[in-house]
Amino acid sequence: MEKKRGFGTTVIHGGKWPYDSNSPTAPVVAPIIMSTTFEYDTVEDHQASIFGDLRYPMYTRAASGNPTTRLLESKLAELYGAEATLATASGMSAINLTLMHLLNRGDHVVMGRCYRLTHNIAQQILGDKMGVDYTLMLSEDIKDLPKFFNERTKVLMLDIPTNPMITVYDLQEACRIAHEHGIIVVVDDTCSTPINMQPFELGVDIVSISLTKYLCGHGDAVGGAIISNAKTIKQIRQGLYPRIGPAISPFNAWLIMQGLKTLHLRMPQHNNSTQALAEFLEKHPKVLKVNYPGLPSHPQYELAHKLMSGFGGMLSFVVKGGDANGTALTNLLKIGKVGTSFGQAETMVETGWMSHYEWSMEDRIHFGLYPGFVRVSVGLEEAEDLIADFEQALAQLDVNPEEMLPVSAREMELEWKPVVTKME
Ligand code: PLP
Repeated sequence: MEKKRGFGTTVIHGGKWPYDSNSPTAPVVAPIIMSTTFEYDTVEDHQASIFGDLRYPMYTRAASGNPTTRLLESKLAELYGAEATLATASGMSAINLTLMHLLNRGDHVVMGRCYRLTHNIAQQILGDKMGVDYTLMLSEDIKDLPKFFNERTKVLMLDIPTNPMITVYDLQEACRIAHEHGIIVVVDDTCSTPINMQPFELGVDIVSISLTKYLCGHGDAVGGAIISNAKTIKQIRQGLYPRIGPAISPFNAWLIMQGLKTLHLRMPQHNNSTQALAEFLEKHPKVLKVNYPGLPSHPQYELAHKLMSGFGGMLSFVVKGGDANGTALTNLLKIGKVGTSFGQAETMVETGWMSHYEWSMEDRIHFGLYPGFVRVSVGLEEAEDLIADFEQALAQLDVNPEEMLPVSAREMELEWKPVVTKME
């Protein structure tokens, strides 16, 4: 058997241009094909293409896709060691499409501490509009899983690590238990990437990921992908995908491929700088708590070492002095930029009340977003410069040295009562 190529080779050379070509030359960097539609010599050729497993492009929004997008898809499949990929316009459209494909009226889905808007999919799209029942699980302890399952449970959805709490699940065990109950496991590995964790080796059925973050890496293209076996991807590609219409722009697919070429170089830098910043913050007397799986104080430190080869570029922490100091610190940073999103070259920082502005303080504390909560997406700047930036900002804060973390009255609850946000 041919030796499996390393990540660094796959991100550069992986995938296959979907056109046959007789030309003796080819561009080294893939072309961007912006044409939305494709002409055939004859009507018969066009129809043969439909019945020939959609080998040639016809229309960019349709199941046949677009050559630039199809190249990105085959590259991602190879990177994940999976059979097939469907690229979408955003991470949200990938997650939505996956869940809408898997779940029907009356079914039940269990979600972990997923991204805030993934919870909203459960509440407002699957729940309110489609009649799918859902449970949002607060516990990270996989042994609790069967308590959430019922005979109608079809899907378990987990993010690893979670955003913004940076928690980790025993994915292997979760897959084992879910599969025993006939439940499909969907994972959003946007924060870990296939460089830090290979979800299919751990038993996952479907990956739904945002390409906007680390895989693109430069903050200049929004995109998403669903990665799984050929049968599942074909069903989504030919089913909901052309009807809902979340095709990625070929230009964005191309930008993401350009970014992808350095993923294996960028991730270790994100991992190392985030570890260094986490260690600095944890020792700082004005910091109450740091959430990063690379720290021995993290509740899933050992588990994270078992599942992952690196812990990613996201950390969160709680500064003494509540939201007033969380805000002041974020504003005082000179390198870290105030803003949302993550996974790009620039360090991006946001406070808990910036991202979770719709939540009550009680809900935020219950979830772990204590007053003074700050999330950092550590960029590719030099780690010493970033540490110096946080040091100078922290030095300017007044704190009560006796301050402790607040205790939630609902600490022992396993289930998250959803925070319902209005869609306006
Ligand atoms: N998954 C996670 C973990 C996220 O944090 C986000 C966005 O922040 C998404 C998915 C959605 O990705 P996109 O912005 O590409 O729709």
